Amino acid sequence: MSACITLHCDQQWQYGTCATVLWTGARAVDDAHAAGARVGWRILPDGRTYCPPCSGYKPTTPPVVRLRSTKGADRV
Ligand SMILES: [Zn+2]
Repeated sequence: MSACITLHCDQQWQYGTCATVLWTGARAVDDAHAAGARVGWRILPDGRTYCPPCSGYKPTTPPVVRLRSTKGADRV
């Protein structure tokens, strides 16, 4: 296997389908699902996947990203 697995949202609307795709970087389906679940994707037992907005996922707190340019530079 050479390709990493992407998750595709399986939500279908009246006018089409959700185009959200998650690049997981995983090489096994289980790993891809686990990676998706960590960021709010919903994985159904039958293998269908839904992106966070489609699955009703609403983060209560925004993710905190700490940016550090160099080691030891966090002291201002
Ligand atoms: Zn979606």
